[in-house]
Amino acid sequence: MKHPCSPRIPGTCTLVGAGPGDPELLTLKALKAIQAATVLLVDDLVSDAIVAYAAPTARVVYVGKRGGCQSTPQTFIEKLMLMAVQEGERVVRLKGGDPFIFGRGGEEVEHLRAAGVEVQVINGITAGLAATTALGVPLTHREYAHGVVLVTGHAKPGDSGTDWRQLAATAHSARLTLVIYMGISGAAHIQQELLTGLPAETPVAIIQNASLVQQRHALTTLEHLHHTIADTGLGSPSIIVVGDVLQGLAASSTSLHPATGTYAH
Ligand code: SAH
Repeated sequence: MKHPCSPRIPGTCTLVGAGPGDPELLTLKALKAIQAATVLLVDDLVSDAIVAYAAPTARVVYVGKRGGCQSTPQTFIEKLMLMAVQEGERVVRLKGGDPFIFGRGGEEVEHLRAAGVEVQVINGITAGLAATTALGVPLTHREYAHGVVLVTGHAKPGDSGTDWRQLAATAHSARLTLVIYMGISGAAHIQQELLTGLPAETPVAIIQNASLVQQRHALTTLEHLHHTIADTGLGSPSIIVVGDVLQGLAASSTSLHPATGTYAH
C-alpha cells in the first residue's frame, strides 16, 4: 500500500554494501546499483575506486569524516536521502562492508520506511570476514571455533557497552571467535576485561585496511593486545580477532605475507 505522502514520481532508494575496500569484492548487484544511481551518498570507508564506478553525471555526496571534518549527522543524511527520493532520483546509500553490520543501516531503513519509502538493501562483504580471510584464516573451524561473535568495541554515548567479561566467559565455554569492530581506542579496556574469562595466551590478530593495498596486520596474544597496537602503530580502521582459529597462523606466521605483515610477540 502506498503511503499518503508518497510522491507521484518516486525515485528509488538502495542501501549498498561496498565491501571492505577492494572493488573486486563488490557483488554484481552492488555494482549495477552504483552504475544506475543518479545520487550517491557515500560513507567514509568506501574507497575511491568504488565510487569511480558511478555514472559521470551522478551527484556524489560524501557524508563521512573525509578531510578531517565532522561526519554529517545521521538525521541530516536520512533527510537528504528522503528528499532525493522524493525528487525522483535513484538514490544509492553506499556504505562500507555490509550495510546491516554496524553501519546504522537499520536506522536508515526504519526512517525511510516510516516516511513511506521502500528501501532495497544489497549485502556487502563485512570487514570482519574479509580481514580474517586476508590472513587465510577461517572464522569457524571444527577443531577450534563453533561460532563467531561480531561485536563493537565502541558503544553509543550513554550506553554502558558490551559486557566483555560475560562475553569472554561465553566465548571460552562455547568456543567462539570474537571479531571486534571499532576496538582500537578501547583495546586496553577490552584486553583487561577479556582476560577475566579467556587465557592470556589466546591468539589475537589486528588487521588494518583489510583487502586494500595498505593492509597491515599484527599477530599477538590477548595479554599483549594493547602493547602490540601501541608498538606497531596499527590504527583505525582495524578489526581485532580473538580466538583459537588463529592458532595455525601463529605457528606458521613467518610464511605469511612478510612484506605487509607485522609480527609481534
Ligand atoms: N558496515 C561495516 C562496518 C562499519 S563500522 C562492515 O560491515 O564492515 C566501521 C569499522 O569497521 C571500523 O572501525 C573497523 O573496525 C571496521 N572496518 C571497516 N573497513 C575495514 C577494513 N577495510 N579493514 C579493517 N577494518 C575495517
